[in-house]
Formats: sequence, structure tokens, C-alpha cells
Amino acid sequence: MKKLNIIYILVTIVIMIFASLFYFDYLQNKKASLQKITYDKEVQAIKNNLDLLILTKKKATLAVAIALANDKTLIQELKSKHIDEKRYQKIIQSFKQNTLYKDIWIQVVDKNAVSMYRSWTSTKGDGLAKYRPEFQNLTLKTENYTSISVGRYNLSIKSIAPIVNNGEVLGAIEIISHFNSTTNILQQEDIESIIILKKEYTKQLKYPFTKLFLDDTYYIANIDASKEYRDYLSSNNVNRYFNDNYKLENGYLIISSAIKDVNNKILGYAIMFKKLQDISTLELKYFMFKYISLFIILVLIAAVALVVLLFTHNKKQKEYYQNILDSSTNIVVVTDGQEISYANEIFFHYFKQYENLEAMSKQHFCICDLFIKEDGFIQKNMNGVSWIEYLTSKNVQINKAKIKVDNNIYIFVITISKLKEYRGKVLVILEDVTSQETLLNMSITDELTQIGNRRHFNLHFESEVSRSKRYENHLSLIMCDIDFFKDVNDKYGHDKGDEVLVNYAQLISSHLRNEDIFCRVGGEEFTILLPNTGKDNAQKLAEKLRIVIEQYKISLAITMSFGVVELSMDENAGELYKRADEALYQAKESGRNRVVVG
Ligand code: GH3
Ligand code: MG
Ligand code: MG
Repeated sequence: MKKLNIIYILVTIVIMIFASLFYFDYLQNKKASLQKITYDKEVQAIKNNLDLLILTKKKATLAVAIALANDKTLIQELKSKHIDEKRYQKIIQSFKQNTLYKDIWIQVVDKNAVSMYRSWTSTKGDGLAKYRPEFQNLTLKTENYTSISVGRYNLSIKSIAPIVNNGEVLGAIEIISHFNSTTNILQQEDIESIIILKKEYTKQLKYPFTKLFLDDTYYIANIDASKEYRDYLSSNNVNRYFNDNYKLENGYLIISSAIKDVNNKILGYAIMFKKLQDISTLELKYFMFKYISLFIILVLIAAVALVVLLFTHNKKQKEYYQNILDSSTNIVVVTDGQEISYANEIFFHYFKQYENLEAMSKQHFCICDLFIKEDGFIQKNMNGVSWIEYLTSKNVQINKAKIKVDNNIYIFVITISKLKEYRGKVLVILEDVTSQETLLNMSITDELTQIGNRRHFNLHFESEVSRSKRYENHLSLIMCDIDFFKDVNDKYGHDKGDEVLVNYAQLISSHLRNEDIFCRVGGEEFTILLPNTGKDNAQKLAEKLRIVIEQYKISLAITMSFGVVELSMDENAGELYKRADEALYQAKESGRNRVVVG
């Protein structure tokens, strides 16, 4: 049963281990894909944010250009070909103080695309049509224009609005803004960014605005590009990030977003760093929590199922063995010699005073307390050892116990076996042999005198003869007979004769030892088998009995004649008996009421 339990547990554990392995593998994959989805979403959001910021900046730059192009003062200035530079410096200053445009540049050109004013330099009077296509044929252009492009100074957003008066194009105003405000806003969202131009644009930058370069080659367009991230890109080969994609490195989500001009040509990349720890993984945590909780619940269910299974299985097994033991007609108990720890059903049929084991254990009940002290039956202590020790020893001669329960006397044959797995405990089986014993007793008891009959004598005679020969012990036999008993019957009647038989049998019994075997072998003829007794002592006993009988005189005064013999080593039981009979005959012959030793 224990083995089966262990097998159940092992099989369950193995299944659980395999299930867990598969489950955690699944969970790992699921987690990875969920993480990827989280990062993809984050990347898309950041890219969209950047695009939106750039678009907003383009529109705002254009709005400034349109607003200034429609300024009457500017139209007047173009007509008079004189630009009030201070006025524009004030406007720029006002932008710097009040808006996100900290470094806005303004350029005014006439209808021939000749620069009339540049806010960032004093250079003017040069024609732009040659190398700036957006300024060619200005007089025909009434549309606004905005783009991202690389000039001699920087990567910037350029918006151009034509200055129109009464349908005539007088020139154009150009507003140039840089990327700093964009990267600034991103910074507020914990995104560090570095805007890098492709290598081919480096030469074009005659007057690099930020003066920041990566590996002396790549121009960095945002002035707030932090050194830490510039160094990181430099030491990790910046080319790897020119891919319009993202990477997970060093605890960062590194996003690369292409910056394109009006013709969709890639000018460079905004490389943005977002710390992974700043990315919300709530969804992922919820997922893991959900699935790990599920797993724990499943494990608990499996454990509970296993316990229930084992419990019911054990219960069934227990019931099965219980049934077997309860079906036994013998009492079966488990005890340590003092307390009974198990008893089958039949036990409680005998010991009705105990309702169950618990009631019994409260009393520290030992079955041995009920043993009746009688020769030939088991006692609490046997030859100096406990009854259990005695019954588990090799030399068991007595195995019956007489037990008194509710005024009934039972005789049980006791068998004891040690329980190997439970140290100190023994299994005791009590077989009720009361009825067999009664029958046997009846068959060997003389009905009238209640001493042993001839069968009883015969049962012991042969065995006592061979035992005394084996151990070379003395064995004597006394044969005795009432004198002139016929006369008793004749004179006083048969009933009186019976009374005499009973009384004198009792008298003789009271003078014998427990081991002496006293039987009525004929009508008024008795034998006394005396183990461990020599001829002399047997004679003394016979003489004593003869005198006691002679003096007794209860019921009637009678006498008895005795023949005494001792077993010699060369004779058998029959020969011994014959010699005793002859000695008795001689006692009769020589006058009766006497002892003759043969
Ligand atoms: P002896 O001294 O030679 O032994 O003489 P006895 O009369 O005792 O011997 P005998 O063998 O002649 O007689 C035995 C008598 O015992 C015969 C019978 O009436 C009587 N007897 C035998 N069994 C019983 C019994 O169970 N009850 C009674 N009352 N008498 C019995
Ligand atoms: Mg007689
Ligand atoms: Mg006789």
C-alpha cells in the first residue's frame, strides 16, 4: 500500500514536472512575443510622435512665414528696398522669449531671389536662384513652400511664403527653424535623441551650426544631443542604427527614424533612446501574473486531487483490510503488551463494555488483566517473563488463556506474531475454543465424581511414561479400590454408594498435588499417577491416604486397599499398570485396608 502511494506521488510529480516545463516554455515564448508587441507599439508611438512634432514645426514655421509675408511694413520695405533689420531682431527676440522657437532665422529676398536680409549673418545681396530651386522664377510663384533640407549651416525646416502686393510678387520671406525644439519635447518624455545626417551631407555644411560631429564625419543636427549617447553611438558603430528600425541594447530601446526631404530622400536619422525601465510593462506583468496564478492554481488542484486520490485509495484499502479482519471469527488485536491500538469487530462482541477503541484506550486496557490464574493457562507473567515474550519464544507449552468476561468464562488459544514494521507491537489472535474445551473436558471427566475418567488416565499415562523415561524422572502409580463396596450398595442402596464415591474422591483429590493425575478407572477403582515421585514417596502418600480414608467416615466409614509401583526403565506402560494391579490384588488378598508396594 505504501509502495503504491509512492508510485502515485512519483507519477504525479513527473507529470507535473513535464507539464511545468511545457508550460514555462509556452509562457517564455508568449512573454517574448508580448514583449515584442509592447516594444513595437512603443516604437511606433515614438516615431509617430516625432513625425507629428516635425509636421507641427513645419506648419508653425510656415504660419510665421505667411504672417510676416502679409505684413504691410514688409511690403513697404520691399518697395523701398530697405529692410529695418532691428525690427526683425526684435521679432526673433520675442519668439525666443515667448515661444518654443529659440533659434528662428529670417531671410527676405526680392523678386529676383536676391537676399536682402539674413538674420543670422550680415551677408546679403547674393542671388539664391542658382542653387536653391525653390527660389527660381519667384515672380510666378504664389504658393507657399515648406521642406526639410540640409543647407550650408544645418539640417533645418525651411518655409517660404511669397510677398504679394496687388497680385504682383515682390519677393519672399523664408523662416528657418532647427530641430532643437523637437528633441527638447522628446526629452521631456524621457527620450534622448541624436539627429545625424548621412555622411554625404557633411561637405555641404560650410558653417556647421551645432559644431557637433560623430567620428569626425557625421554631423549632429541637434545642439542638445547629449555626450553620453553620442559616445555610445560612436563606440557601437553608428552605421548600425541607420535602418529606420529599432534595437534592444544595454537596457535601452534604440529607435531609428528616417528624416526625409520633400522628395522622400533620406537626409539622416533621428536616433532616439528610451530606457526599457521607463516603458510601461503593465500588460506584460498582468499577463505573467495571470498565467503564473493559473499555474499555481493548477498545481494546487493537482495536489488536492492527489491527496484526495490517495486518501480515498487508502481509505478503500483500509476498509478492505478492515473487512477481512472483521470477517474473522477470531479476535485480532494489536498491542504493545499494555495498550490495545487495534481491535477487530469480534473483539467488541466479547468486550461489550468498550464501545470502540477510543473508549478502550482511555483505560489503558491490557487483555492480560483478564487472564484467570489457573494451572495450564497463560498468566500475565510466565516463568518470569511477560505473556507476550513467553508466547513469542520458541518453547511454548501453554497457549490457552482463560478469560472472564461478564461472568462468562472463555478459553482462547493465543497466537502472537511480531509486527516487523511497528517496533514493540504484536499481533495477537485469540481463537475461542471454549466449546471444544468443554466437550473435551466432558469426554475425559467422570460424570459422578468430576475427576478424570479412564480415557483421561489413558491420555496421560502413555505420555507420562515416555516423558519420565526421556528425562529419567521418577514416575509412580498408585492403584486403589474401595473394600467391600458391593456390601455398601447392598446395605445402603446404590445412591448411598454414589455419595460415598463422590465424597472419597474429593477427599483423595484434596491431598494431591496439581501435577498428580487422579482418575476413576472403574466402578470403585482409582489410579493416581505421580510424576517426579519415587516408590518411597508414593508409598508414604498411599499410606497417608489410607489412614485419612479410614478416619474420614463421612457418609459411611470405608477403607481402601492400595497397590504402589514405580516405573522401571525397562518396562512399558502396560507392564507398569499390570504390576500395580497385582500389588492391589495382593493388598486385597492379604486382608485389605493396606498398602502393598509392587
Ligand atoms: P473387594 O473388597 O474385593 O473389592 O470387594 P467389592 O465388593 O468391593 O468388590 P466387587 O468387585 O465384588 O464389587 C464391586 C461393586 O461395586 C459392584 C457394584 O455394585 C459396585 N459398584 C460399581 N460401580 C458402582 C457405582 O457407580 N455406584 C455404586 N453405588 N456402586 C458401584
Ligand atoms: Mg472393591
Ligand atoms: Mg473393584
